[in-house]
Amino acid sequence: MGQKSFSGKTVYITGAGSGIGFETAMAFAAEGARIIACDIDEAGLAKIGEALGEAGAHWRTERLDVSNSEATKDLADQLEAAGWLPDIVISNAGIGYIGPFLESTEDAWRRTLAVNVEGVANGCRTYARKWTKAGRSGHLVNVASMASVTPVPSLAAYTASKYAVEGLCEILALELGEHDIEVTCIHPGIINTPIVQNPAMVNLPEAQMRKLQAHYVDKGAHPRDVAAAILAGIKRGKSNIFVGPGTGPAVLAKRLLPRSWFRSIVRGTAKDIGYL
Ligand code: NAD
Repeated sequence: MGQKSFSGKTVYITGAGSGIGFETAMAFAAEGARIIACDIDEAGLAKIGEALGEAGAHWRTERLDVSNSEATKDLADQLEAAGWLPDIVISNAGIGYIGPFLESTEDAWRRTLAVNVEGVANGCRTYARKWTKAGRSGHLVNVASMASVTPVPSLAAYTASKYAVEGLCEILALELGEHDIEVTCIHPGIINTPIVQNPAMVNLPEAQMRKLQAHYVDKGAHPRDVAAAILAGIKRGKSNIFVGPGTGPAVLAKRLLPRSWFRSIVRGTAKDIGYL
């Protein structure tokens, strides 16, 4: 279906304090949308609030842990009461966990799935319920990853979480289309954001960690490119958006190559980047 213009639309974005969420909030604001910028991180919220203010946007910031379903529902009730029920809900907040599967802890798995999967489901369920109850249309935009197309070693929990997001998007499209709710799944490749810079979430030998982090900085796309692809994709009514270096060929290779060839290419690339 797609949307001609975002002017006057209300856009809710989680993880808006940094990286892809920050740039997406700014891009929608530049097209005249009202922005609800959510994040767990107060400093990030202050940063996006200041940037939106300087841009002359109509905005509000909300501190939210997306893995908390009650807090998600409470915030939605407050927004609805204040006349800020969103038209577009972008579930972008996510965390990375990088390290060998055999060394991964239950806690790292629990946290990754809670934020990356339950966090997305919480937002989708809360706002889709509100839209259907009010007889309104809406658009759910969920940020998965190229990890659900070309999984790389050392990203087990993260990849499992992103396959889950992709699966969730498929189900939502099947169930919610009749309620006039659109669903778009975003698959960014390597994007230069702080996501791999948090040492607490990286369990690799020091030199390998530095190599990987340097690759993101030197070779990653700017998060602004992801934001631009999200807006363009929604306008064109796309259900899946692939953005970032090498994402097109990777999708084709996964589809066309025998799986053993594909895996050997992925292992080679993973070594070059620093995942292995
Ligand atoms: P980022 O670390 O720059 O931003 C993530 C934001 O989410 C941060 O502001 C953080 O505070 C917030 N956040 C984390 N946990 C939260 C929670 N429980 N509740 C609310 N907010 C929370 O990372 P990014 O690269 O911009 O990542 C955004 C999304 O893009 C994530 O879902 C990530 O998995 C996905 N992604 C990123 C890349 C990449 O290369 N950077 C690639 C593919 C997919």
